[in-house]
Amino acid sequence: MDRSAPKIAILGAGVVGLTVADILQNHLNKANITIIADRFKEDTTSSVAAGIFRPGTSFRGATREITQKWVDDSWLYWQDILKSAESSNAGVMALSSYIFSKENYHVTRNPLIENLVPIYRPVEDEELKICGSDWKYGSYFSTVKTGCDRYLPWVEKRFIAKGGKIVNRKIDSFTDTSLRQYDLVFNCTGLGAKYLCNDYDLVPLRGQIIKVKAPWLKTAFYGDYDTYIIPGLDGVATLGGVRQYDSYSLEVCKHDAAAIWERCCQLLPALRKAEIVAHKVGLRPHRVPVRVEPELIGGLKVVHCYGHGGYGVMCAPGTALHAVKIGQDILKSNVRNKL
Ligand SMILES: Cc1cc2nc3c(=O)[nH]c(=O)nc-3n(C[C@H](O)[C@H](O)[C@H](O)COP(=O)(O)OP(=O)(O)OC[C@H]3O[C@@H](n4cnc5c(N)ncnc54)[C@H](O)[C@@H]3O)c2cc1C
Repeated sequence: MDRSAPKIAILGAGVVGLTVADILQNHLNKANITIIADRFKEDTTSSVAAGIFRPGTSFRGATREITQKWVDDSWLYWQDILKSAESSNAGVMALSSYIFSKENYHVTRNPLIENLVPIYRPVEDEELKICGSDWKYGSYFSTVKTGCDRYLPWVEKRFIAKGGKIVNRKIDSFTDTSLRQYDLVFNCTGLGAKYLCNDYDLVPLRGQIIKVKAPWLKTAFYGDYDTYIIPGLDGVATLGGVRQYDSYSLEVCKHDAAAIWERCCQLLPALRKAEIVAHKVGLRPHRVPVRVEPELIGGLKVVHCYGHGGYGVMCAPGTALHAVKIGQDILKSNVRNKL
C-alpha cells in the first residue's frame, strides 16, 4: 500500500459505485480505494434492471448540457467495452429496438440519443404492423444493453485486480468514525441516500419484471403503458413493467405480474409459450435532478452521485466521470492547501 496516496471510500456497490471505482482507478495514478456497502451483486437494485441504453424524458442533471454530456460520455464508456474482447464477460451487447405508441407521437422520439446512436428513425407503415394491433406511431433505433448480472462481478473483479478493497458494512451516518480516515468519500448509495442525506427529493419508483426464456428474441420492443420486452445475452428476456411512485414494497405483486404478462403477450404473442424463470422487484432511486455534487459534512469531503431513477445502468459512467472530476479537483485543492 502506498501511504502517500489519497485514501478514498466509495459508499455503494451497485452499478454507480462500481463504475465510479473503475473510472477513479483509471484517472488516479495512485490511490487507496475502498468500496463500502451492505449489499452486493444480485442483492442490489442494479441487478434487477434490464440495463438498456434509452433515457426517459424524466432523466436529467442540473442543466440540459450536463444531462447530454452524461449521456454522451456513458455511450462512449459502453462502446469501449462493447468493442473489446471482454464485452460478453462484462454483459454488454448491441441491440436494436422498436418503440410503438397508439397515443402519443412524442414518446417514440428521444432527443437525448437521436443524434448519438447509429440508427434512430421513424418506422415505415409496414413496420407498424409487426406487432399486431393498431399502432399509430413508431421509431426504430440501435443501442446497447448492459446486464448487471455479468457487469457487476466483472467490474468488481477488475477493481480488486488493480488493488481496490471491499468492505461489507452498513454506514448509518456520515459522522461514522470509520469514515474519518478518508481524504474523500463518494456517496453512491442509491435509495440508501434518502436516509444518509435526509433527502426528501429522493423517492422510490417501484418496478417489477418477469424473466422468460426467449433465446429467439433478438430485438427489443416498447409499447404504451410502460410495456417493454428486452432480450438478454443468455437468451433470457426481461418483460416489464410498472413505475409506482413512492411505493416501497419489494414483494412480487401477482396483479402487476398478470398485467405485465398480458401487455407483453399482446405486444408479442409468441411470448405466450415462453417459460417464466423469475419474477423480480426493484426500487428505482428517483430524483430530479440526479445529484452529482460535492458537500462538506462535518469536515468530511463528500461527492454525491445518486438518484439515477430508471436510468442508472445506462448513465452510470457519465455521472461517474463527472463525480470523479469533482473528486480530483477536491484532491488537488487538498494538496495546494498543504503547501
Ligand atoms: C425494474 C427495473 C428496471 C430497470 N431498467 C433499467 C434499464 O433498462 N436501464 C437503466 O439504465 N436502468 C434501469 N433501471 C434503473 C437502475 O436499476 C438504477 O438506476 C440503478 O441500479 C441505480 O444504481 P445504484 O448503484 O445507484 O443503486 P443500487 O444498485 O441500489 O446500489 C446501491 C448500493 O449502495 C449500498 N448502500 C445503500 N445504503 C448504504 C448504507 N447506508 N451503507 C452502506 N451501503 C449502502 C447498497 O448496499 C448497494 O450496494 C431499472 C430499475 C428497475 C427497478
